[in-house]
Parts: sequence; C-alpha cells; structure tokens
Amino acid sequence: MEFQIKDNRLAATSSRVEFVRSPNIGGPLKPKFLIIHYTASGPDADIARYFSQKAANVSAHLVVRRDGSVTQCVPFNVIAWHAGQSQWTGKGGTRYSGLNSSAIGIEIENWGPLDKGAGGWVSWTGAAVDGSKVVEARHKFGVPNCGWEIFTSAQIETVTALAQAICSAYAIEDIMGHDDIAPGRKSDPGPAWDMEAFKARVRGGAEYRKIEGIRMQQRTER
Ligand SMILES: [Zn+2]
Repeated sequence: MEFQIKDNRLAATSSRVEFVRSPNIGGPLKPKFLIIHYTASGPDADIARYFSQKAANVSAHLVVRRDGSVTQCVPFNVIAWHAGQSQWTGKGGTRYSGLNSSAIGIEIENWGPLDKGAGGWVSWTGAAVDGSKVVEARHKFGVPNCGWEIFTSAQIETVTALAQAICSAYAIEDIMGHDDIAPGRKSDPGPAWDMEAFKARVRGGAEYRKIEGIRMQQRTER
C-alpha cells in the first residue's frame, strides 16, 4: 500500500480512501508532530462514524481498522481533537502544550489493555479477546502488567505507509505516542506498539525515497 497527499487529503495508489468528515475541529494546522493512538474499541465499533457526530467531541485525522483500511476524518491542515491536555519538548528545547495545535493524529483500532478473566482475556467492555492476539506486558509509565491486544500486521503496514506519506508532505519533527505527551493520563498506543521499530521503518522508507531526487528536498524547504 502506498499513499500520496494532495490538498491535505489522503489518496492511495491502488484504492479509494474514504473520507468521513468530522465536525470536531479547530483552526488551521501546520503539522510538526505525528501522534499515534489506539481507539480502545472492538471490531464492531465504527470509530470514523463516531467522530462524525458532534456529540462525540473528539476526532482524529485518520482511523486505521484491524484489516488495515484507512478512513480520513479531518484534512491535514485543520486541527483535530485527539491529544487533549498534553505537552512535549521538541528538538532544540521548544516547549509545546496542547498538541492538537501542532500534531496530526492517527487512531488505530485496538482494544488496548485487557484483563485476565477466568475464561480468558476480556476487554474493558467485557468482550472476549482471543489469547493468540494478546501480549502480556508492563506499560512504560508503570501501569501494572496486563494484556494488550496485538496490532495486526495489516495495521502496522498501513500506518508505516501513512507516516511515510505524512513525513514527505509535511515538516514532521517527531512521532510520539499519546502516552508520551500525556503520561499517566493516557496509555495509548501502549507496549503492544513498538514505537522504536516503527520509527526506524518509517525513516528507512524516507531515506530510500531521498535517492529518487529533489522532489523531497524542495518540500522540506518550505
Ligand atoms: Zn489517544
């Protein structure tokens, strides 16, 4: 899967990208960061539709389902409501707070933390989750050991391609988890998302594309 960004909207080489507009937006966005989230939802919930309701009061630029399909809800040059109270110290020591005003948000469909019940792993809603899809781990910010739903390989592939397209189109300084910018308050994407490996894959793709020529250089000088 490969993506392009035209007029702040996502397009794919091989298929159409669905756009489900969310009304939960702020003013203009000049993206500097990319924030990774999980939805804390099961396969039956349609999070992009949920974001399209005013009453939801939340949104993200992109939602990636377990099958790897992606829906855009907010154009990349418009603020989405995914980060909430948050802070980050950027490269060079610049302090950011309220990362909605500087970050693109990707929501990945995933249950998040899971409890071990008598009959196996269960989500916060009480839904049973197949043990083959669960990893037991401690969150880096000290949440006790619990189960975490494993992200699907289709999701990892899609989110990597999305991040590469976003980093090519915008001057993205760094990629963080919601837990990195709101430690203690948020635990997504959590230990099942290998952020270092993910960032290395995204960078690997960017290095490779640089060989193709000056198109990327021109973009980064804007
Ligand atoms: Zn989040």
